[in-house]
Amino acid sequence: MSLDSEQIELSIVVPVYNEEQNLDCLFERLESVLEPMKVSYEIVCVNDGSQDNTIEYLIAHHQRNSAIKVINFSRNFGKEIALSAGLDYSSGAAVIPIDADLQDPPELIKQLVDKWHEGYDVVYATRRSRNEESLLKRFTANNFYRIIAKMSRVPIPANTGDFRLMDRKVVEAIKQMPERTRFMKGMFAWVGFKQTSVLFERPKRYKGKTTWNYCKLWNFAIDGIASFSMIPLKIWSYIGILVSFLAFLYGSFLIISTLIWGIDVPGYASIMVVTLFLGGIQLISLGAIGEYLSRVYEEVKRRPLYLVRESYGFANEQLEETTQETL
Ligand code: UDP
Ligand code: MG
Repeated sequence: MSLDSEQIELSIVVPVYNEEQNLDCLFERLESVLEPMKVSYEIVCVNDGSQDNTIEYLIAHHQRNSAIKVINFSRNFGKEIALSAGLDYSSGAAVIPIDADLQDPPELIKQLVDKWHEGYDVVYATRRSRNEESLLKRFTANNFYRIIAKMSRVPIPANTGDFRLMDRKVVEAIKQMPERTRFMKGMFAWVGFKQTSVLFERPKRYKGKTTWNYCKLWNFAIDGIASFSMIPLKIWSYIGILVSFLAFLYGSFLIISTLIWGIDVPGYASIMVVTLFLGGIQLISLGAIGEYLSRVYEEVKRRPLYLVRESYGFANEQLEETTQETL
């Protein structure tokens, strides 16, 4: 898929959304790491509907260095989908997704590649600490990883972002996963293969500010749980059995006490408690079913995952200026 006929060894995939301030520094650091490694490389940048001048910057860099390739989305589709598009377009023997804000230090690429040469298929970069983050962020992140570890059948490594090296066979496996709700952390883990990790200290964002707020993070967490665990869907039958059993005990108690002590009219409190409790449980279970149903609906619509407005630097002409469906 690349312009040069020789096989590309390393593909760096960068999802980019409003990052004009970071791009110069990003490419400078990436190039200063990649050039001395003497490997053939490409840097696949996916512009995820940025509202600033990101695309102009990207095109300028592409004209300077043809190894920098650009995909321009028709609108903002979100980081996870931008990453999927990057994987679709990349052709390297190993692929490394990296954030554009320099929170994933490019200098670590060398270590990732060394581990890959040792024979690992996936080398993920795990953050050593979250010390510089706020207490609330740390608390929510830790709990998220704890809950998802309990609920999901595949082990999802904690404190690990999308920064990792994947062998081509892993990328091909991920490309075969057609789901629309793309919780990449889980998908990377789901495919398995021989994995290892390297530790690193995650720096602060270089410039600009993050687009992730707690509302988005909450939805992200729900996406993760709903995509990789059926427990919220299945647990209701067990809660139902438990509640029915308790109701049976209470019913028996009422019948017996009526037989022994006669009819006792005041029962308002107990009826209210039982009605409200059951009403609450039913609403929660309906909500859980709704979460899954909405995802099923998303899947059956079978819309394309993303639309590409134009692309720069890819040899395959038919990919350019067309819509691309990944299945
Ligand atoms: N990003 C994206 N689409 C979005 C939001 C973010 O492609 O809708 C990119 C962004 O440009 C960056 C990466 O995803 O390269 C991580 O985003 P951010 O730094 O905002 O997230 P955080 O590091 O806070 O998790
Ligand atoms: Mg960031």
